[in-house]
Amino acid sequence: MLENKGRTELSSLGEFGLIKHLTQHFEIVNESTIKGVGDDAAVIDHKDMVTLVSTDMLVEGVHFDLSYMPMKHLGYKVVTVNLSDICAMNAMPKQITVAIAMSSRFSVEAIEELYSGILAACTNYKVDLVGGDTTTSHSGLIISVTSIGEAKKEDVVYRNTAQEKDLICVSGDLGGAYMGLQLLEREKSVFKENPNVQPDLDGNDYILERQLKPEARIDIPILLKGLGVKPNAMIDVSDGLASELFHICTQSEVGCELYEDKIPLDPMTYDRAREFNLDPTVCALSGGEDYELLFTVPLSDYEKVNNHPDITIIGHITDKNSGMNLITKNGLSAKLKAQGWDAFAKS
Ligand code: ADP
Ligand code: MG
Repeated sequence: MLENKGRTELSSLGEFGLIKHLTQHFEIVNESTIKGVGDDAAVIDHKDMVTLVSTDMLVEGVHFDLSYMPMKHLGYKVVTVNLSDICAMNAMPKQITVAIAMSSRFSVEAIEELYSGILAACTNYKVDLVGGDTTTSHSGLIISVTSIGEAKKEDVVYRNTAQEKDLICVSGDLGGAYMGLQLLEREKSVFKENPNVQPDLDGNDYILERQLKPEARIDIPILLKGLGVKPNAMIDVSDGLASELFHICTQSEVGCELYEDKIPLDPMTYDRAREFNLDPTVCALSGGEDYELLFTVPLSDYEKVNNHPDITIIGHITDKNSGMNLITKNGLSAKLKAQGWDAFAKS
């Protein structure tokens, strides 16, 4: 971790010096941010819009592994995963706060790298860093981000309002982040056994990027608005397609039919899954961390979403009694299980 760049101890700056140092390059870009970093609280004015708030915490050793996750990527990703939740409400993220707890194992330079990733994400998604907290940890690094967004009240989309006959749609492709993780884990274990072997990651840029530098689909609410489509229900794919569909169906009290052959997979995801003796469909259903948006739209919107390059129709909503079903490639109907990330990790 940045050994060759020289090392400044965190203690040399002190808490206030560190906060100032880390936040100095952040500029306010949103009109709704009345007061950012520097006072006891941030002040935000979303005027006639409703405010959406979401928090996620990432813990070293649980959610990320610094042996293959560069600090800058980690900073970018922690913001992305938070903004994704705001996008999943069909809203626009505008502000974030960042709370970090770190041990003296980390240098000022390392935390600066983390913040350079946070800054890159703020710049890319046009959100303001408006506050946070800085404290000490005795066991690694903990980062918690709160994201704040805005939307017109009537535009907000919930999980529990999917309707029978709705089309189930997903943005982008699935399973890539999980395959990226498999690859990184494999190279890590090879390296542990023989540190002289260089990691073999060539030609896997797409799936590595899906894992290390995911993007929030902030473009999808805008795209849908442009198409004149308001989803009936929406959620982001953080734990895997099956788990997210399960949330929508149970909360909306409906069932679904998901078509295996419609699930969008990148060819690289498919090929690497095969090489790892994994079923590519299972990677999409249970892999997680893709941060795509899963949503349902009224059947009458079929023409608007069909054949759109960023959207795939993967199934439809049925009545509750039919349950959740996967129609397999050979036409059989199988009960869909809501095995999320956890269940998958154990199996
Ligand atoms: P307080 O003692 O009132 O909690 P702090 O000294 O913790 O205030 O923070 C001073 C200012 O710096 C506040 O505006 C706070 O939101 C902001 N801040 C603190 N830590 C961070 C951080 N890690 N990232 C961004 N802003 C931070
Ligand atoms: Mg504080």
